Amino acid sequence: MSTRVRFAPSPTGHLHIGGARTALFNWLYARHTGGLFVLRIEDTDDVRNTQEAVDVILSSLRWLGLDWDEGPVSGDATASALGDKGPYFQSQRQSIYQSHVQRLLSEGKAYECDGAIKFRMTREAVIIPDLVCGDVTRKLTDREERDPDFVIVRSDGKPVFHLVNVVDDLEMGITHVIRGEDHLSNTSKHIALCNALGANCPRYAHIPLILNGDGSKMSKRDMGASMSNYMEEGFVPEAVVNYLCLLGWSPKDDRQRLDLKEVVSLFDLPQILRHNARFDMDKLVSLNGHYLAGLDAERYHQLALNTLARKGVQLDNHDSSYVRAAVETTPGKLKKISEIMDYAGFYFCSPEEISRDADASAKHLVFTNHDSTKALRDGLADMDTFVASEIQGLFKSVAKTLGVKVGALVHPVRLACTGKTTGPSLYHLMEVLGRKRVIAEIDKALACMLNQRDAES
Ligand code: GLU
Repeated sequence: MSTRVRFAPSPTGHLHIGGARTALFNWLYARHTGGLFVLRIEDTDDVRNTQEAVDVILSSLRWLGLDWDEGPVSGDATASALGDKGPYFQSQRQSIYQSHVQRLLSEGKAYECDGAIKFRMTREAVIIPDLVCGDVTRKLTDREERDPDFVIVRSDGKPVFHLVNVVDDLEMGITHVIRGEDHLSNTSKHIALCNALGANCPRYAHIPLILNGDGSKMSKRDMGASMSNYMEEGFVPEAVVNYLCLLGWSPKDDRQRLDLKEVVSLFDLPQILRHNARFDMDKLVSLNGHYLAGLDAERYHQLALNTLARKGVQLDNHDSSYVRAAVETTPGKLKKISEIMDYAGFYFCSPEEISRDADASAKHLVFTNHDSTKALRDGLADMDTFVASEIQGLFKSVAKTLGVKVGALVHPVRLACTGKTTGPSLYHLMEVLGRKRVIAEIDKALACMLNQRDAES
């Protein structure tokens, strides 16, 4: 029998990183086994469901590249446009649940109670055979001892989570339920329901939780918890997928950078780690830096443009060739594309708007640097072509002639042009800014150096 797994989120808020990992592990298992990955939106709680949350789930899964295989074509316009199938919506499957409830009622396995319908829960301990945790025996709690039966249809006629979840797993032929360990306490109920419906239970694999770095339980408000945040911050989806693979699963060796094709071929449920995973933003950001540096030029460019626009840069105010050249000086050092504003924002504001590092200016825009900077400035003004390679040559020759270090020329000029001591390659950024702006800024720096001497004398 071929594998059929599902991701079954409730659309009640942002997609959490734990949910994204559950989706990924299901997807990996489906792809590893050549089975199917079903997406089922568990939207039976109309008080807490929102369309926005559905949209976030769909866009997050698409962003991560977790394509689903099955479900009726829905009214979701983007899904249809992309040729996607599905997902299933539980809100559209009410009659299926009703027929199962009728069956339980007629067989005496469920009964009416105060307008609601309750399921006659087994009094025996239930053994949950789990592919990750091993056999877990679940006895009734003290409270359940007093009243083990539970509601499957509320008094307003709405079927509840336990029922719809189990009925759909059976109806959809789900072979493996891979979900967070927080559901383990529900699974004994689900096994009892499956048995009552005369069906074989799917196999279960409960994935350990994701904790914060300090070991506390991760909540939706914690840093790194919301998938929307990664999309908004311009993370590289492959980096996030790579990191999610490492959260609770690991190839035998200690590798951090994983090729997804290889993960698909290696991934299996027994290798899911049994201990809780700890979320480490630094590790994720460092992986993101590698993926960012490896992006092809066009994807990098688009990511940079989207980020700059989102951060409020009016890209239309600049020539597209200028924007392209500016962005081309940025790859390599950034770990997150959102750092581009700090790193290279100077390209896109007027000299007056640049934020300037006052301490560094006080250190480098000093009178002792005046004559060498002036010699360089005059050389820049005289150059035939204002291109990076020749600018670099000029720095070297001026340094040699004056017997100063190239660094003594570099710092004042970088500060003059960008307001900072670090950033893209100086010679390239000067070429992009152009001779006129560079010389105007160096002139201001020279004036500053003279003022500094006058102030001291
Ligand atoms: N709707 C449930 C949730 O989001 C699904 C649990 C399951 O995977 O069975 O937690």
